[in-house]
Amino acid sequence: MRMWNVPPKCLCRKHLIAEHCECHMYAGAIRKKRSIRGHIEKGQVETHNIQRRHDELAKEMLRRGYNHNSPLNFQTKRREGKVDSKANLIELSRRCKECRKRIAKHCPKATLKKKPQA
Ligand SMILES: [Zn+2]
Ligand SMILES: [Zn+2]
Repeated sequence: MRMWNVPPKCLCRKHLIAEHCECHMYAGAIRKKRSIRGHIEKGQVETHNIQRRHDELAKEMLRRGYNHNSPLNFQTKRREGKVDSKANLIELSRRCKECRKRIAKHCPKATLKKKPQA
């Protein structure tokens, strides 16, 4: 379970739907006061961005013609966790062929290696 926090266009169908679902799961876990400490420590969630992220993923799902019937209404005062979007673009392009194609199209610079210092 994790938030990728990359531009929604860069996610394949599977990863888009999965991350959307995980926003609901994180919101549910926080509501039920279940610990997500491990996720926070591993940089997999930003508690204060769950609602915003859910809404942008839901918008992208609708734009692609997928169903979205699960509005989220989640507020929290917690501000914990920091997701590294740049590292996640690299990670996604490494582990998913479909995401790799989308990243190459929509965020072509994201996975380029830094130029070595002269
Ligand atoms: Zn939803
Ligand atoms: Zn993917």
